Amino acid sequence: MGESRLHHSTCPLCEAMCGIVIEHREGEIVSIKPDREDVLSRGHICPKAVALKDLHEDPDRLRRPMRRTASGWEPISWDAAFDEVERRVAEIRAQHGNDSVALYAGNPTVHNLGAMLGIGDFIRAVRTRNLYSATSVDQLPHMVASHAMFGHQFLIPVPDVDRTQLFVCIGGNPVASGGSIMGAPGFPKRIEALQARGGRFIVVDPRRTESAEMADEWLPIAVALVVSTVVAIAVAALVFRWLATRAGDP
Ligand code: SF4
Repeated sequence: MGESRLHHSTCPLCEAMCGIVIEHREGEIVSIKPDREDVLSRGHICPKAVALKDLHEDPDRLRRPMRRTASGWEPISWDAAFDEVERRVAEIRAQHGNDSVALYAGNPTVHNLGAMLGIGDFIRAVRTRNLYSATSVDQLPHMVASHAMFGHQFLIPVPDVDRTQLFVCIGGNPVASGGSIMGAPGFPKRIEALQARGGRFIVVDPRRTESAEMADEWLPIAVALVVSTVVAIAVAALVFRWLATRAGDP
């Protein structure tokens, strides 16, 4: 049996981008472990990264292009697949217009550098309004708010969890999610560091989540009250900004 080798990579399944070490031998994955040298994830991974081995070896995994025919699915070559996509998409657009084509890009496509280099040009070339992604499921409110407040949908404020002294988390569970768009893998260690430097972690959530378990203060207010609390904070912020503007008036 040949020697096993190590391959350093990042988990492509979410924005936390945890560093992983893949041990492989003769084309087979032996193990997937956290990369303790990774400066961002610092040795953290969640069970999904370990399960990448199962995903890779799943007999039902799509390993080559498939074409649907009247008698079922048949494997085809990449050249045949690209030719067919080019021909059929052009036909459909010519017959029904640009918006007859819908595109979906989600995880892990958007964590793949090669895909990201080409997908923007492809989307612009197709010129369809029908774009879908993981964002359309759960992030568009973020983006609409960021566009309205800061002028661009990707100008999303991200908490500086490694430097803040007060972290107020409303309706989120970053201990379980890895911080999602925050890109903060190993979140519990970051909160422990915040608490060790004298900071406070406050969680507002009707459910006693994993994050609430770590909180210095857990405010289990009802869902309806969460909405009115957020509205009250927003109003207070607007009033403070107005007052600050007035104070700065000549
Ligand atoms: S938190 Fe889990 S899914 Fe996300 S990048 Fe890290 S290991 Fe992968």
